Amino acid sequence: MKILVCVKRVVDYNVKVRVKADGTGVELANVKMSMNPFDEIAVEEALRLKEKGAAAEIVVVSAGPAQAQETIRTALAMGADRGILVKAEGRLEPLAVAKLLKGVVEAEKPDLVILGKQAIDDDCNQTGQMLAGLLGSAQGTFASKVEVADGALNVTREVDGGLQTVGLTLPAIVTTDLRLNEPRYASLPNIMKAKKKPLEEKDASEFGVDLTPRLEVVKVAEPKARQAGVKVGSVDELVSALKGAGLV
Ligand code: AMP
Repeated sequence: MKILVCVKRVVDYNVKVRVKADGTGVELANVKMSMNPFDEIAVEEALRLKEKGAAAEIVVVSAGPAQAQETIRTALAMGADRGILVKAEGRLEPLAVAKLLKGVVEAEKPDLVILGKQAIDDDCNQTGQMLAGLLGSAQGTFASKVEVADGALNVTREVDGGLQTVGLTLPAIVTTDLRLNEPRYASLPNIMKAKKKPLEEKDASEFGVDLTPRLEVVKVAEPKARQAGVKVGSVDELVSALKGAGLV
């Protein structure tokens, strides 16, 4: 089985995001960028399938600026075999990414594509579903368990109030949820080895996809600052404070 893993370069999850003064977006200058955490889980799952003997090759793809190379190298250092960077500048919406990924899938013909359930920058949760729609493939989203069974996949999904297991015929699309696995850290020797792994660069224009955003970002605003709390001395005081604030 050949696995394609899609990874996005996003603002590191530890960074306290700041909104630009003009409200047009978030500040990206001098901000630490990393692999989207759900995509680390996607890479880890592919590695585990390979270690179990269920997969032969893991290819990693990212669409974005030249710096997305670093994100691909991180996946290669974790253990993926080779990478593909689809170079594209500016804001990419999920539909545009899904169309670019469709081009990569048609060229690479993977049996399984693993994506994160959502990118933590825009929280869209759309790309995997759109890619499955464009390809007409089976999809198992929000996966918390992936099992290979006789050339097919059983994917356990985290749904409201429980778990649902779906059987997928290959080729299939899987998107990862938080509890699927705990991604490994890349060791220093593997980081060095990753520098020599193949990383192919393509230009988004080669795919004939219209990347023009369909949405206009009207405004981005910081959440309201929380007001300081008040200490009360007794339950009675608490009740009258809540009544005073109109909460009971
Ligand atoms: P989203 O639909 O934007 O929340 O992203 C869901 C998933 O799609 C991410 O976790 C990635 O696996 C994949 N993805 C989104 N954007 C990109 C991109 N620019 N390059 C590669 N994969 C992406």
